[in-house]
Amino acid sequence: MGVKLPIYMDNHATTQVDPRVMNAMLPYFNEKFGNAASRNHSFGWAAEEAVESARGQLAKLIHAAPKEIIFTSGATESNNLALKGVAEMYSEKGNHIITQVTEHKAVLDTCKRLGRYGYQVTYLPVAKDGRIDPDDLRRAITPKTILIAIMYANNEIGVIQPIEEIGKIAKEKGVLFFTDAVQAVGKVPVDVNRENVDLLAMTGHKIYGPKGCGALYVRRRNPRVQLTAIIDGGGHERGMRSGTLNVPGIVGFGKAAELCQNEMAKESERLRGLRDRLKEGIFGRLDEVYVNGSMTCRLPNNLNASFAHVEGESLLMGINDVAVSSGSACTSAKMEPSYVLKALGVGEEMAHSSIRFGLGRFNTQEEVDYVIQRVVEVVSRLRELSPLYETAKERVHSSKMN
Ligand SMILES: *Cc1c(COP(=O)(O)O)cnc(C)c1O
Repeated sequence: MGVKLPIYMDNHATTQVDPRVMNAMLPYFNEKFGNAASRNHSFGWAAEEAVESARGQLAKLIHAAPKEIIFTSGATESNNLALKGVAEMYSEKGNHIITQVTEHKAVLDTCKRLGRYGYQVTYLPVAKDGRIDPDDLRRAITPKTILIAIMYANNEIGVIQPIEEIGKIAKEKGVLFFTDAVQAVGKVPVDVNRENVDLLAMTGHKIYGPKGCGALYVRRRNPRVQLTAIIDGGGHERGMRSGTLNVPGIVGFGKAAELCQNEMAKESERLRGLRDRLKEGIFGRLDEVYVNGSMTCRLPNNLNASFAHVEGESLLMGINDVAVSSGSACTSAKMEPSYVLKALGVGEEMAHSSIRFGLGRFNTQEEVDYVIQRVVEVVSRLRELSPLYETAKERVHSSKMN
């Protein structure tokens, strides 16, 4: 009896390396330590073979060809490479990029920099459910548009964008489509051909693989996407990303992709069950709790909810044996409400008192039940202490009497 504390429920931030992934990686730190670019001996060949096998595993997961996978140091680099690489390569064609307001900072800050270099960036708004309107996208496209950058699934609210519709519009207008699919890959079926995706970013540590290893999918035909490198050197990765390959990391990333491929259907069903149990457990026992973002177009492992009449910081402190994230970000010593929740129209107070629950492979039903109990306990206690909650309840009560 009893769950082991603390409980990790922050799987959008990072995930534990799966033991099967770690076992696959271990030989590549010592016995098989070769440089994948060494062409003259068996050490190099063994490393290269392992890298190519991982490339195949990743390609399969997103229905790409192995040659279309470029290894990077993580999704931050993949996002930078996609945006800056396309911006420079296609600068003769145009200088306009379209993105949206709830992207990860690795996309938003890169776009901001491109803006300073003379590129025009359009930031599409999202509706209350967290999704862009494809008609807004259609209207924003001009003859100067060279890239559409819209994420697959959001890292805070788990909301999935209308990717297939976006891909269709991009294809029809002849504009490249890049998606940051870090949170979606391995969790929901992703198919770059069905979805007309031209570039796609992913990373190992969000799918039970190692940190510091990511990839960018770059379409090779129909159309053949070209990129200007942002790191120059030995010409590795078809000249798009120089630098000695992180062989153990890549092997682990590939293994992690293979496990997701084989287990995704069952795993997502299990996590959806746990997530719904968490939601029903909390919502059934507390009033004035609100889900942030669409509940239908959403990753199966995400719940993001705001708790009215409690202070965000006290809430997190109260459940300090559960690792989750809040809707506040620490920017220069000040607590700022999440820009993602703000974009949905969530008020400042309600953003501060929100929690992101990110379920993962290693969470159990017992843990979910413990979290429900803790959250209900802490929110109830904080509300009892809150004069605001009393007033609000009386208001509701008297309006019901009238
Ligand atoms: C985590 C994350 C990233 C950054 O990935 P790193 O590999 O940690 O650089 C980018 N985009 C999204 C949506 C993420 O969740």
